[in-house]
Amino acid sequence: MDDYPLTLTHVVERAERFHGGREVISRRPDGSIARTTLGACARRARRLASALAGLGVGDGDRVATLLWNQAEHLELYFAVPAMGAVVHTLNPRLHPDGLAFIAADAQDRVIVVDESLLEVFAGFGDTHPFEHVIVVTHGGAVPDGMADYEDLIGRGAPVAWPVLDERRAAALCYTSGTTGRPKGVIYSHRALVLHSMAAALPDQLGVSARDTLLPVVPMFHANAWGLPYAAALIGARLVLPGPRLDPGSVLDLLAGERVTVTAGVPTVWMGMLAALDAEPRRWDLGRLDRLIVGGAAVPRSLLEGYDRHGLTVIQAWGMTETAPLGSVGRLPEDLDAGESDERYAFRARQGIAVPFMDIRARDDDGELVAWDDTAMGELEVRGPWVAAAYHNGQAPDSFTPDGWFRTGDIVRIDHRGCLRICDRAKDLVKSGGEWISSVDLENHLMAHPAVAEAAVVAVPDERWGERPLAVLTLKDGARTDPEELREHLATDFARWQLPERFEFVDVIPRTATGKFKKSVLRERYSATHLEDHDSNGHGPDGGSDLL
Ligand code: AMP
Repeated sequence: MDDYPLTLTHVVERAERFHGGREVISRRPDGSIARTTLGACARRARRLASALAGLGVGDGDRVATLLWNQAEHLELYFAVPAMGAVVHTLNPRLHPDGLAFIAADAQDRVIVVDESLLEVFAGFGDTHPFEHVIVVTHGGAVPDGMADYEDLIGRGAPVAWPVLDERRAAALCYTSGTTGRPKGVIYSHRALVLHSMAAALPDQLGVSARDTLLPVVPMFHANAWGLPYAAALIGARLVLPGPRLDPGSVLDLLAGERVTVTAGVPTVWMGMLAALDAEPRRWDLGRLDRLIVGGAAVPRSLLEGYDRHGLTVIQAWGMTETAPLGSVGRLPEDLDAGESDERYAFRARQGIAVPFMDIRARDDDGELVAWDDTAMGELEVRGPWVAAAYHNGQAPDSFTPDGWFRTGDIVRIDHRGCLRICDRAKDLVKSGGEWISSVDLENHLMAHPAVAEAAVVAVPDERWGERPLAVLTLKDGARTDPEELREHLATDFARWQLPERFEFVDVIPRTATGKFKKSVLRERYSATHLEDHDSNGHGPDGGSDLL
C-alpha cells in the first residue's frame, strides 16, 4: 500500500475541493452573523499562509491564537498546520501570569488576537517578545504596532501546500498542571487526522455532510473536541458562536441556524435547560438531533431534563492529552428495551472507548483492576491520538514505563468496558469546564500571614459542576476572614477561580505519609455544601463568561 501521509493538508484540500460550498457561520461579538464557506476559509488559508511566511513564520514555529469560535480561527486551524507551522490556541480565561508562562514555554513567535480580546492580550502581551501581533477587527482600529488580519490576507499570494511528514507537529494546547506550570500537549498531523476520522464515525460523535455542527466548546480547548477538523473532512456545516454563550444566545443560534449536533460542557447545558423549561415553545429545536456533553460528569438530571424536551444528550469523556476524544456513551442496542433506570444508569457513565483507544485501570498497588464495575483504579490510556510526553518533558510521571498515559481519573469499568469516573487523583477543581489548581490556591493561601495550613478541595455545585472550597488552620492568635483571603488570592488568580467558601478548623486530617486527606474533606464538605447551596450566591463572578 501507499505510504500516504495522514496530514491535515488533505483535510484542508478536501474542504476546498469537495465541500467548498458548505457554510461557515460566525456570530460576531456584537451579535451580528457573518457567513462564509469552507471553500472560502480554505482559499483564504492559502493567502494567510504566505502572509505568515512573509512575516518569518517557518517550519515548526508556533503561531498563537487568542480568538473565539469564529471563521478566522478556522482559517488559522487550516493555514498554520498546512504550512508546516504549529497553531497554538491560548485560553483567554487564564490569569495573565498563566498566559505569559504558556507563551514563553511554547516560544510563540506570532499571535493573532480578536479585537474583543485585546484587553486580555494587554494583560500579558508585554511579558513575551511576540514578533508580530495580528488583530482580527470588527470595525475598530488596529492599535499601533500591530497588523491587521484582513490586510495581511489581502497581501498574501495563495501558496501551494508543501508535502509534510504526518508525524510533525500541527497544533499545541496547554492543560492545567496540578501546580503552577501548565503543560503543553503537541498534536501531530497524524493524530488529528485519525482523531477526526474516529470522531466522525456514526457511533462516536457521528459527523455527516448533512449535519450542522455548533461547537460551544471553545476552539482554544482541545481543538473544540476535534469538531472543526471533522466538519472540514466530512463537509458538515459549521456554526461558530463567538463569545456570547449565555443560554438565550446559544438557543437562538441552535434554532435560527437549524443546528443538528452541538457540543459543550455540562454547565452550558444546565443553563440552557433552565431557559427551555421556562419557555419551552420559544425555540424551535426540531432539527437538533443530539447534544454531546463532556469535559465534566453529566448528571442524570441533565439527561432526564433534555429527554423531556425530546432532545438526546450523549456523554463523552476526553482530555487535552487525548486530542480529546476518549470514550462515548452511546446506548447499546440491547438496552433499548431495558428499564429506563438501566438506560439512565448507562448514559450517566463516561462510555466506551473509541476505536484505537486502549484503556486499562490500575489500583494503588499497580495491579490491573477487573472490569466488574466494583474494583476501582486509575484510568490509563494509549492510542494514536494520546500524548506520549508533555512539551519540554514536563511531568514525566504521567506516562508509564510501558507507554500508557495516566489520566488521573479514578474509574470503575463494567463488563462492557464502559467507564464510570468515581474520583480524581489529580489535585484540580473543574469549574464550568475550566481548571483551578488546588495546590496553587493552597500555596497562595499559606503565604498569607495568618494562615498556618490550607487544603483546597472540589465540592459539587449545581451550576458549575464543582467549586473550590478552602479548609484552613490559622496561626496562633492570628485572625483573618474570607473577604481578606479572597483579596489576597485575587492578585494571582482569575476571579472565577477564587473559592467562595472557607472553613476554619483546628486540624486538617492527614494521611500516614503526611498528605492532606482530601477524600475525607471532600466527603465532609460536599454534603453541607449541597444543603447550603444557593444558586445565585455561590457561582463565580462573570456568569456565562466562564464557559
Ligand atoms: P481537559 O484536559 O481540560 O479536557 O480535562 C480532562 C478531564 O476532564 C478528565 O481527565 C476528567 O477529569 C474530566 N472529564 C472530561 N470528560 C468527563 C466526563 N464526561 N465525566 C467526568 N469527567 C470528565
